[in-house]
Formats: sequence, structure tokens, C-alpha cells
Amino acid sequence: AIPLVVAINTSLAARNGMLVRDRIAMEEARNLDAIIFDKTGTLTEGEHGVVGTATADSIDEGEALALAAAVEGDSEHMIARAIREAAAERGVSVPEAEDFEAMKGRGVRARVGGEEVYVGGPNLLTYLETDVPSELRRFADEAGENGQTVVYIVRNQEPIAAFAMADVIRDESYRVVDALHELDIEVAMLTGDSQDVANAVADELGIDTVFAEVLPDDKDEKVQELQNQGKLVAMVGDGVNDAPALTRADVGIAIGSGTDVAVQSADVILVQNNPMDVARLVKLSKASYRKMQ
Ligand code: ADP
Ligand code: MG
Repeated sequence: AIPLVVAINTSLAARNGMLVRDRIAMEEARNLDAIIFDKTGTLTEGEHGVVGTATADSIDEGEALALAAAVEGDSEHMIARAIREAAAERGVSVPEAEDFEAMKGRGVRARVGGEEVYVGGPNLLTYLETDVPSELRRFADEAGENGQTVVYIVRNQEPIAAFAMADVIRDESYRVVDALHELDIEVAMLTGDSQDVANAVADELGIDTVFAEVLPDDKDEKVQELQNQGKLVAMVGDGVNDAPALTRADVGIAIGSGTDVAVQSADVILVQNNPMDVARLVKLSKASYRKMQ
């Protein structure tokens, strides 16, 4: 009787915008103890806008934006797009850059005018072992407390400018946290972004557990950390970076258009880009199970 019921379940799921790649996982969803959400592009829109700039004495705002846009010239990341857009809006002329390198979970690097220039977040600074000068530090601290993502330009090993970027929390994210709490499910968030931005978003949404400044290759370890506490864990993500975590999770959920890699690593694909569908999925799994008894 079980296969028949599960078949009904998957077609019902499909009508609700859920593509089930692994039926066992869909069935397990009813027993989930914790669900980990990727922050950027999942709980938030992922459409950053540059809302503030701070610079060291060696560079002015327009130059900083132009330099950052040059280094980000080859990157598909949403942060890169926002910086290029801000530079275009301001009408600054962007210098030539070469030798582009993407540094997964950290930022980007390129050569501009014979100099080595990096643009990236806290993980980049840790990697370069460079300290932020006090005038940039104050700006970054305030932006972070407001939940704004901060990226730095580092030239010749020296942070010379910082940009504050605002992302928007989705309305559905508030609702899904409440809905999952009603189902007695722990809600966690996983991000490569800084601890203070992560805390600001988590406080705003009422999220229970926060993993911040996590490099892409370490995301699956955070899934395992909860599993090691004896919990049945789902991971919800959209990016290439999330694939190992999606695979590690008991229920891997790809959301939105997703990347091919995310989709191939997921047990369930939520076609509509709506975090509330995660709660619907759990409810559908519970309802189907009741029918089986
Ligand atoms: P998330 O884990 O939130 O989905 P990513 O792993 O894509 O985010 O990126 C983590 C962090 O790495 C970003 O918050 C940013 O600090 C930095 N980063 C990644 N790509 C870029 C880029 N192209 N330009 C600047 N910073 C970047
Ligand atoms: Mg992401």
C-alpha cells in the first residue's frame, strides 16, 4: 500500500510546486527536528544594493567604486552585480582588470593597473590576515549591526574601502519560521556572511540557531553538527555552494530556479521561490503519513 500512497503524495506535491526526486526523503520530512536555511537568496531576496561607502585617505568614493567594479567585472555573484550597478549609476569609468580569480565564499581577486586587488567579506580578511583600519571598522560595525553585508577592497594587502550592502528579508521568511515553530521544528540559518549580519537577520526572524562565516566547503559540517545531536535535519538552499550540505542533509531541499548542481543534490525541489513551501512540504508529508495508517 505504501508505494501507492507515496505516488499520490508526489503528484499532489507536484501540483503544489514540489518536485520530489527522492520519495523516501519526502516521507521522512514528517519527522524533521531541524531545518537549516541558507540566508542569502533564500531567506532574503539576495538582491543587494550598495547603501553606504567608507574609504581610507588614499582613495575617494568614486575611485573605490570604480576599482571594486573592475575587480568584480567577471563575477556572477549578486554582490558583484550590485557593485557594477552602483558604479554604472554613478557614471564612474571602470579601469581595465585582468587575471580574475573567484575565491569561493571569500570574494574575488584581480590585477588592476599592475596591482593586486581583492574585494570580499570577513572570510577574505581572515584569509589575507589583514586588519581593518579603525575608520573602516567603525563603519563596518554599524552596518553589520543593521544587518547590512559589508565587503572590503584590499589593495597591496591593505583594506582601503568598505561598502555596506542592504539585502531584503522576504515576507514569507517571517511566516515560515512561525509555521515551523508551530510544528515544533528548530529553525537554523547558515551563511558565509559575517556573524553580526547573521545575528541581525536571525533576531529579526526569530531563528533559533545561527551558523555564520561558514566557508562553502564547510557548510555540510554544520548539517552534520545538528545530526550528531540526534536530529533529523533538512537543508534548504539555492546555490552551488549549498550542494554538499543538501547532499548531507536527511532531506535536501533546493529552492527557486536554483543552480543545476543544487537541483541535482536535492531530494525535493521547490519550484516557486517561496520559503513558505518548506512548511507546506512538512505538512504534506505528515498528512500523507496519516492516510497510510
Ligand atoms: P552565502 O553563504 O550567504 O550564500 P556566499 O558563500 O556566496 O554566501 O558568500 C559568502 C561571502 O563571501 C559573502 O557574504 C561575501 O562576503 C563574500 N563574497 C563571495 N563572493 C563575493 C564577490 N563576488 N564579491 C565580494 N564578496 C564576495
Ligand atoms: Mg547562497
